Amino acid sequence: MTQPEIPQTPVGGGGNGSSSGDGASSIAALRRISRRREETQEQCELCGIGLSDDHEHLYDVEKRQLACACPTCAVLSEVRAGRTTYRRVPRRYLALRDFRMSDEQWDSLAIPVNMAFLTTGSDGGLHCHYPSPAGATESLLTLEGWEELVAQNPVLSTLEPDVEALLVSRVGERHEDVEGQPTEHEYFLVPIDACFELVGLIRVHWRGFSGGGQAWERIGDFFAGLRARAVPEEQT
Ligand SMILES: [Zn+2]
Ligand SMILES: [Zn+2]
Repeated sequence: MTQPEIPQTPVGGGGNGSSSGDGASSIAALRRISRRREETQEQCELCGIGLSDDHEHLYDVEKRQLACACPTCAVLSEVRAGRTTYRRVPRRYLALRDFRMSDEQWDSLAIPVNMAFLTTGSDGGLHCHYPSPAGATESLLTLEGWEELVAQNPVLSTLEPDVEALLVSRVGERHEDVEGQPTEHEYFLVPIDACFELVGLIRVHWRGFSGGGQAWERIGDFFAGLRARAVPEEQT
């Protein structure tokens, strides 16, 4: 799995749709793909052992990169906390259904798209990134703006620095909020690898100025997956 970095670094390989040829060459292409899958079974980036699809990730806080990890190395990274740059990425997904953020607060972040993710750093830093075809791009987040959000939404004080994010979506799919009011805004507390996934799929699939159908289909799938997986905040 090719992990995008934050911020911009070119994504290696992948993503190019192969043009369909005659039957024989399609079969050859399928064979190539399945062979490539076998060859690229993911391995723990620390010890080299083979990994299942549902493996854990570690986040290197210096390189701002994810590493795929086996259960043993994931646990060891916690034992060695403070002596390694790796942090174990948590696995909690919360749907923040009564999250409060005004249009003014959103506008103050100066995000040119309708998605953003906010993180706190173990160095005390605050970061707001948005996905773009060039990768994750950083935007403005002031301490004042952050403190205001935390005061309105105490759940943010539980964000684990570096490895958890507030993911804001204003992509415009209408649904009902906690009081049954229609809204186009959604808020999730997610592990940082989910943000990397969103950044990666936009980088690979975005076409032209508005993204194109394929990109928006993937974005829709991504948020549908989040909705299915996330637990309502009040249930935790
Ligand atoms: Zn390992
Ligand atoms: Zn992985």
